[in-house]
Amino acid sequence: MSSDPNCIFCKIVAGAIPCFKLYEDGETLAFMDINPVHDGHCLVIAKAHYPTLFELPAEAFAAVGRTAIKVAKAVNAAVSPDGLNLIQSNGPGAAQSVPHFHLHILPRWKNDGLVVNWALKPGDRQRIGEVAERIRALL
Ligand code: 5GP
Ligand code: ZN
Repeated sequence: MSSDPNCIFCKIVAGAIPCFKLYEDGETLAFMDINPVHDGHCLVIAKAHYPTLFELPAEAFAAVGRTAIKVAKAVNAAVSPDGLNLIQSNGPGAAQSVPHFHLHILPRWKNDGLVVNWALKPGDRQRIGEVAERIRALL
């Protein structure tokens, strides 16, 4: 499996950096975003290192998609948002900050005023962990 020693998500896959893990299978990993826009904001990544959609094999996209459906349903049940976006960014013009393919699962609220290219603000780790518990219990 391809891996980049300088990539933060590859380090998470390898267990060298901790995460609030929600789910994993052979090809994918889901974990809480450490700078959540809203409660329940999490990521699904391919375990192998592909920087963007443009390098990603279709099979890996399908595997990420399977995990995303499963995790998004649990997020939706855990935090009961008004809606939920899947967001996936490629390249600096799309404000991709981690060049390892990933999908954002992003609960949304009516009138939350969210602009898609948000600034990163550190989250409360205790709260992130508590929300992770609620989602994991539904997986
Ligand atoms: P992008 O900007 O590439 O679409 O999204 C990358 C996401 O990864 C950001 O929302 C950011 O908060 C998240 N992120 C960056 N570094 C880490 C980390 O070390 N751990 C976790 N859990 N999330 C991270
Ligand atoms: Zn990587």
